Amino acid sequence: MTDDGGAVEEDGATDGRVGATDDSEHYEAVVVGCGPGGAAAAATLANNGVETLVLERGVDAGSKNVSGGLIYAEESAPYTIDGLFPGFREEATERPATENYIHNVAGDRVATFDISELHHHDTEWADSVLRRKMDSWLAERVHEMTRETGGGLLTEVRVTGLLRDGGEIVGVETAELDPITADLIVAADGVNSELARDAGLMDWEEPEEWYQGVKAVVDVEPDAINERFGVDDDEGVAHLFSGDLFDGVRGGGFLYTNRDSLSVGTVFHLDSIAAERAEPHELLDNLLTHPLMARWLGDDYREREYSAKLVPDSKKVALESPHEGRLLVVGDAAGQMQAQGPIIKGMNHAVTAGALAAEAFVDARSRGRPERAGQLYEEKLHGEGVMEKLRPSAYRNLGSLGEVEPLADWSDRLVESSLGRYAVRALGSGVLERLYSSPRLVSMIPDTRTPYVTLPTVIAEELGERVTDRNEVEPPELDDRIGELTYDVGDPHIELVDNSYAASGTAVTACPVSAEDFGGGCYRDERVKTNGHEEHVVSLDTQPCVECGTCAVVAETDWEHPDGGKGVEFREG
Ligand SMILES: Cc1cc2nc3c(=O)[nH]c(=O)nc-3n(C[C@H](O)[C@H](O)[C@H](O)COP(=O)(O)OP(=O)(O)OC[C@H]3O[C@@H](n4cnc5c(N)ncnc54)[C@H](O)[C@@H]3O)c2cc1C
Ligand code: SF4
Repeated sequence: MTDDGGAVEEDGATDGRVGATDDSEHYEAVVVGCGPGGAAAAATLANNGVETLVLERGVDAGSKNVSGGLIYAEESAPYTIDGLFPGFREEATERPATENYIHNVAGDRVATFDISELHHHDTEWADSVLRRKMDSWLAERVHEMTRETGGGLLTEVRVTGLLRDGGEIVGVETAELDPITADLIVAADGVNSELARDAGLMDWEEPEEWYQGVKAVVDVEPDAINERFGVDDDEGVAHLFSGDLFDGVRGGGFLYTNRDSLSVGTVFHLDSIAAERAEPHELLDNLLTHPLMARWLGDDYREREYSAKLVPDSKKVALESPHEGRLLVVGDAAGQMQAQGPIIKGMNHAVTAGALAAEAFVDARSRGRPERAGQLYEEKLHGEGVMEKLRPSAYRNLGSLGEVEPLADWSDRLVESSLGRYAVRALGSGVLERLYSSPRLVSMIPDTRTPYVTLPTVIAEELGERVTDRNEVEPPELDDRIGELTYDVGDPHIELVDNSYAASGTAVTACPVSAEDFGGGCYRDERVKTNGHEEHVVSLDTQPCVECGTCAVVAETDWEHPDGGKGVEFREG
């Protein structure tokens, strides 16, 4: 950041204490990452007079970030983003989501339920956001607040790992600055957290522990949004989609109204994408070209940005003890991304956790025991009910049972049988709408085809109406989408450890900027002839990489973030 009195000078030297070139600088607190989790931690530390340095690898906070995204302020949460940052809703968000629907789709038949009750449950407000705008607004405030403490925010600094002294975590190492020591280190470095991995806390490596999100931001004039969605300037709509339009992949689609654009995307279980050899960009196109979308997209389709990212499934991976010595881990880095049925809540939990981690340090320090901050943070996560939301006992006790293979097959067959169809007709739209709106029921939805694919399809077949609109939308080809993104990769940040198709071939289809029949992209399927025999291998060129993290999970790779401001830069997010 180089604004008034900002920390970094032209020559890379810094003012104040930030980044001085002595062996190691010391701060009371270092926060790594300036997404919602890091911003909340930094603001809470600064409000309590803790000297805080914030390090962010993007050229701008938000330039690496993607979300759907609706940010929620929960009534039961101890912290909300507008509580920590006054003016947040007026300055950094798009529109409040005042109406919420889910569409069950089977071919061109659609059964729509109003699920506003579910969205409004425990919700003070929920606004649509675009991450570049939101995060860079937060970063400005964070910089102002932390400078008051003798710290500040530095962008284009990538933390490469933890600094240890005799095995004990004492600070961080970066690619750009001398080592930095601190009494508190908050890892808010998101889903591909290098710090949580370094500390041995991030032990989730399997595709079933993740979701992959892919998104298009579509340009639409505010007046057209108001007219097509029947809203005023200060109103907005959230639409969700499930059923047979995603080739049997488990997950769903979303459409949120922004001020002068729409966010349209998909979120799928990564194991399902991998197993079905699905192409994420094609699944997004299935949604964009469905007849139902014509009324909202119009016939003049202009895509501003294509993006993708992984998020963790908190039900399976949220860390029970997200701390190690002076290191406290918050947000996606701690697996705190909650899919509450069709509703996705990650940003609000990152905010709560960031603020609770900071609060724990302030409490522990005031008792003269700063080393107790981690334990206190863990107790607060449980005491404030955050862990129960992230890992609901209803899912542990009942929902996960539905995932047992024979039971999952049986429930699919039952729903599709004439008995299942009769039950759907007997229940009717009214009862089904109420069931969809039950927070308790959605918290225990099993990760099987039944709730995502089979049941919505049967509902649409039995209760849906035919959509007759003609959708003229032609989404851009993958190479056009990639061409619109900004890259500066330098040294490859991904290394293929095993390039055989058997080990890494899934990346060709699961990578959102690669495809089986596409010559460019990151991963390519190749047949190499050597000494008379042919090998089926995969080649990698990270130039168009959107840094989603997918291949780190589905292929044999060594994966790290590009240094500093290098790599993809999202303008919307
Ligand atoms: C398609 C999609 C849809 C989603 N929809 C929603 C939604 O509707 N509502 C919702 O609440 N959530 C949604 N989410 C999830 C939400 O985006 C995340 O849960 C949330 O962003 C997590 O916040 P965070 O602060 O933990 O991490 P992030 O927002 O990922 O921030 C991490 C920050 O750390 C920085 N960083 C990373 N590594 C380093 C390093 N080594 N050194 C320095 N800086 C580093 C990054 O650049 C980034 O700025 C969605 C996600 C996706 C992908
Ligand atoms: S190369 Fe890997 S990290 Fe990059 S876009 Fe493809 S799957 Fe995502």
